[in-house]
Amino acid sequence: MSRVVKVLKLDTGGRRRGNNFDRGRALVAGGAGFLGSHLCERLLSDGYEVIALDNFHTGKGYNLAGIARNGSFTCIRHDIVDALPTDFAVDEIYNLACPASPPHYQADPIHTFKTSVLGSINLLELARRHNAKIFQASTSEVYGDPLVHPQPEGYFGNVNTHGPRSCYDEGKRSAETLFFDYSRTYGIDVRVARIFNTYGPRMRPDDGRVVSNFIVQALRGDDITVYGSGSQTRSFCFVDDLIEGFVRLMNAGVAPQHPVNLGNPVEFTIMELAELVVDYTNSRSRIVHRPLPVDDPRQRKPDISFAKQHLGWEPKVALSEGLAHTTSYFDALLGGRRFAVPR
Ligand code: NAD
Ligand code: UDP
Repeated sequence: MSRVVKVLKLDTGGRRRGNNFDRGRALVAGGAGFLGSHLCERLLSDGYEVIALDNFHTGKGYNLAGIARNGSFTCIRHDIVDALPTDFAVDEIYNLACPASPPHYQADPIHTFKTSVLGSINLLELARRHNAKIFQASTSEVYGDPLVHPQPEGYFGNVNTHGPRSCYDEGKRSAETLFFDYSRTYGIDVRVARIFNTYGPRMRPDDGRVVSNFIVQALRGDDITVYGSGSQTRSFCFVDDLIEGFVRLMNAGVAPQHPVNLGNPVEFTIMELAELVVDYTNSRSRIVHRPLPVDDPRQRKPDISFAKQHLGWEPKVALSEGLAHTTSYFDALLGGRRFAVPR
């Protein structure tokens, strides 16, 4: 993919609302990734002009295949750690740029940390110059290995500052600090979502996170790798539900003055997930155990009372339904045709 995927015709001054695009111009950093590509599609269908910025570290050009020819869409290859390539006018910024899977964010931990800190500063400065609203994709990892369960937004967390996950957890915590300091200092409208484990079509087969690993292993007939005993828990949100939460948080009339949990509160053990995937795919794979990674959180489940009450949001897609869609995606990607599910 070329550096600038489509010819840029971005004016550098003046707001776009009231021009060709009803909703204005939105910038999605990390737009070629799993969540970012779904968000770009949603914003285009809502009437925005959309610019994706991505360094393609974990993102893929084919995630954008469905919108690449859309006249309202532009994709720029750019690393947000570096100064932005041009000072274009923008109304809304979504910062999703950061590798999210432990093997990927640990591959270059210093760059991961810079992405959260320097990348956030670059985007916050852009928001400041253009008086744009800005959204940060934070994470349930800010709670670390939580001692409070389920986790409400008011819980400060239990995070290791110097372990192999710290580049991600502490980077995201620092980004939250920056977002609210920019808001207090410059009056910028910030929205911060703490995202809990989300899965769905367009995760990479080699992403390394648990849902994609288990489905790909089951489809290939490989061993299903449960780390540790499998008694640790996670709560899995389907991508469509999460994107709806993003849009509601960004468009809420009053900006919450704190981060907001977005995730599915139904909790599963990792062993339960492995069994569900094996049953659904009718796979001959064996479930095997591998060492538990350092600092792997023992439990995780969001308290979504705030999102329910103030955004009218809660997940609608059950794990069984979401796994069916995700299995269908990976089956097609791997060349199979056994799990076609109409979307
Ligand atoms: P992903 O790895 O598929 O997407 C991240 C995207 O950001 C990729 O396209 C990648 O190439 C791009 N990117 C990474 N570093 C960059 C940089 N320095 N400059 C420009 N682009 C860069 O992961 P995802 O699951 O889509 O996650 C998106 C965001 O949501 C991330 O910020 C992640 O931390 C956050 N999040 C995701 C989850 C989840 O369960 N999916 C949970 C919590 C938080
Ligand atoms: N996990 C697992 N097998 C895998 C990948 C992950 O058992 O092949 C476990 C992992 O140790 C963790 C849980 O599944 O307890 C969720 O891992 P993931 O990397 O998806 O997300 P995170 O740890 O960031 O919540």
